[in-house]
Amino acid sequence: MRRSLAPSQLCKSQKPSDTNEINDDDDEYENHSPQMYISPYRKPLQLLNRKKKDEKGFPKKLNRPKKPQRPQNQSHSEHESFIKSILSKPFKIPIVNYKGSCLSRGLGVRRQLLRQPLHDPFEEDALVLYHPPELSPHEVMKMDKSKIPVHVVVDPRLSKVLRPHQREGVKFLFDCVTGVRVKEQHGCIMADEMGLGKTLQCITLMWTLLKQGPDMTPIIEKAVVVSPSSLVKNWEKEVNKWLGGQVQTLAIDSGSKQEIDRNLDQFMSQHGRRVGLPILLISYETFRLHAKVLHKGKIGLVICDEGHRLKNCENQTYSALAKVNCKRRVLLSGTPIQNDLLEYFSLVHFVNEGLLGTANEFKKKFEFPILRGRDSSACDDHKKLGETKLKELVDLVNLCIIRRTSDILSKYLPVKTELIICCPLTTLQFELYNSFANKQEFICDSIQPTKKRKKNSEGVTSGGLTAITQLKKLCNHPALIYEKCLQQESGCEDMRKIFPSNFNPKLVQPELSGKMKLVDYLLAVTRTSTSDKFVLVSNYTQTLDLCEQLCRSRRYMFVRLDGSMTIKKRAKVVEKFNNPSSPEFVFMLSSKAGGCGLNLIGANRLVMFDPDWNPANDEQAMARVWRDGQKKPCFIYRLLGTGTIEEKIFQRQAHKKALSSCVVDQEEDVARHFSRDQLRDLFSPLRQDGTQSDTHDSLRCTRCVNRIQVRPPPPDADCNSDLTNWKHCYQSKDISDLVLRQIWKQTGATFAFTQVSHEEQRITV
Ligand SMILES: [Zn+2]
Repeated sequence: MRRSLAPSQLCKSQKPSDTNEINDDDDEYENHSPQMYISPYRKPLQLLNRKKKDEKGFPKKLNRPKKPQRPQNQSHSEHESFIKSILSKPFKIPIVNYKGSCLSRGLGVRRQLLRQPLHDPFEEDALVLYHPPELSPHEVMKMDKSKIPVHVVVDPRLSKVLRPHQREGVKFLFDCVTGVRVKEQHGCIMADEMGLGKTLQCITLMWTLLKQGPDMTPIIEKAVVVSPSSLVKNWEKEVNKWLGGQVQTLAIDSGSKQEIDRNLDQFMSQHGRRVGLPILLISYETFRLHAKVLHKGKIGLVICDEGHRLKNCENQTYSALAKVNCKRRVLLSGTPIQNDLLEYFSLVHFVNEGLLGTANEFKKKFEFPILRGRDSSACDDHKKLGETKLKELVDLVNLCIIRRTSDILSKYLPVKTELIICCPLTTLQFELYNSFANKQEFICDSIQPTKKRKKNSEGVTSGGLTAITQLKKLCNHPALIYEKCLQQESGCEDMRKIFPSNFNPKLVQPELSGKMKLVDYLLAVTRTSTSDKFVLVSNYTQTLDLCEQLCRSRRYMFVRLDGSMTIKKRAKVVEKFNNPSSPEFVFMLSSKAGGCGLNLIGANRLVMFDPDWNPANDEQAMARVWRDGQKKPCFIYRLLGTGTIEEKIFQRQAHKKALSSCVVDQEEDVARHFSRDQLRDLFSPLRQDGTQSDTHDSLRCTRCVNRIQVRPPPPDADCNSDLTNWKHCYQSKDISDLVLRQIWKQTGATFAFTQVSHEEQRITV
């Protein structure tokens, strides 16, 4: 209990008993700064109980570290009194027995008549799904106040993470399920391509419907997401990620029949304010098996993930789902709906029954005339009618289908420039390379006549595989094979003498490797002329060891992620690196350690030090920086030793990308795919007057004459285009990346393919 310091109350507060109250306020002492309470317009009223306080031992509190600053020139006890006067400031209403107006609202009391949306519709970036009609004051007066509709506004926590196309998608979904787009119909199909965030859009829709409505009550009580069993956990994870802790889900992907029935029963029997588990996540199979329970009551919203399973309206899953007592239905599909009329019919019929009529009506009204019109022997009238009917069908169906392709994603990302750079070997590398390659060719040839020797199906022996690795390592840096040369290992005999006599493998010498030299330059120029950071990727931990040494000698801060790191530690390291103010300049990554899902947007330049057999690995590594959240233009440097085995691996990779069906994961498998001729080609020695780029040579390019690109690539080409349609660069002036352009001459690079992801066009919606 506290007393007022108003003059009328002061006499009371001077009573000795009040000192007890002061003690009660001790705890607040630490947390309150007196300044918070001092009005600039009035002086402290009076100093109280100075003496008593001293006796109470207050002074020692002054030694507390967090003591508030007191006004200068005040003695200690004055200060204490001052604090006390502040702390004893009451919350009491000054007029005794004053009750206040009965209309005014007490704190924490909900105002009965106040009708307002759950979230502020006028806030910046607010995503408003429903706007109440504008009413004139007269209309408002006439209206029943309890029925004035309010805005429906997406929870700002979600709307702030939604991208423009997702905002558009959520609005589309909402309009469909609330019957705004098609009268009397409440379903839709979202057929966005992978990666556009269908899940997040659906979660936003669910959350909004579960929490809000124009009449201030939630539009739905319960939602069910049906998905393939492998995705149930994923949905659970996503819901937790976006709505963490705010909503409970019931995820059913296993369990005994009775247990599942019991859980589903419980789910279905929830109503009104007591819906503790408003979201059910269930697989198609489980749904079908337990459909009886799920048909018992009403469900607010059903979402069918991978919904193209429902393209056949005669299967059991379809009928089990179709019978659900739920008018709001959303079907998700990542694959475009085939140009099959019946497939169209069953999917649209599932979400919006009656929109296309019954199956028979559909056949009569659309299918028959359209098919007849397409017939090659159709007369003009039939053709015309067929076209009209098709257009009518498409227009009708488009009201409830939304499909966007992943192309739109790149529009929201900064421009990515990919550069494939051919770096010639240094003299040392060159001599070692040919010495090694010559012996390998000999091995291959010698194998051939004696077929009895154990070898893999198409010619590569395990020795051949080792040889490939050795050559690749040599292309990275001669130091990586020095040990083998010292040991005189197979293929490396007599190679020690090629190394300079004072060669020290412990000392990092970037100038001995064409690629390492280029990286050294790249890092130095970037470091001094920009605030950009690098990701450095290699297949070999040994190469990363060298890069580590390089960074040390240049005093660059770096981090290295290796397989042994715990997930938690990884996350920490990554988070720190991505912070623009952290001093780490280089992030080293082994392409094998994957880094699947690793987000390294703190860097916008990435070096792929060596090519991997599997294009998917390289693609994955490159996607670490050019992804969601990246704000700077990105540069991907892929380095290849000019004319070497690396270029050949790269060409094979490009070839394999074209035949994406035969992507191979294991290096062993890849090697097995080489014929003897290809193998010989792989190990062919380099020529002194060698090529600028073996890869470019293999294209038989018609746009380049005498080492000059005379015709530019087609304007619509991008990083996914064939290399023939990339820019072919021979000199520094051809290079658009200013960092590489500056160092082109010094590095001795012979050729580069460059391409950009898209023209810069930032769209803000
Ligand atoms: Zn060319």
